[in-house]
Amino acid sequence: MGITLFGLYAFAVGYSRAKVKEQMITVKIDDERCKGCSLCVEFCPKGSLSISDRLNMKGYFVVSFSHEKGCTGCATCALVCPDVAIEVFKN
Ligand code: SF4
Ligand code: SF4
Repeated sequence: MGITLFGLYAFAVGYSRAKVKEQMITVKIDDERCKGCSLCVEFCPKGSLSISDRLNMKGYFVVSFSHEKGCTGCATCALVCPDVAIEVFKN
């Protein structure tokens, strides 16, 4: 089965849309506020957050964010964080 021009076009459009969406969402984590409780990790519907191997000044392993899992910018993580360590921006 060959690749049609339309197939290539559809792939390029889908890819660039995903990239634009990715660039429009910023999830900012304040490492020094995070206490590594994992609440945001549990509630993130996309699995975009995980506990990293980075320690903050208080000795907690802090959360890290990855765009790879397709964050939607829903801001659930920011809402559930008891320490207000997460901000979500949509540009
Ligand atoms: S909910 Fe807040 S304090 Fe808990 S791990 Fe996530 S960012 Fe850190
Ligand atoms: S904004 Fe939503 S999808 Fe993105 S990291 Fe936070 S909870 Fe997950």
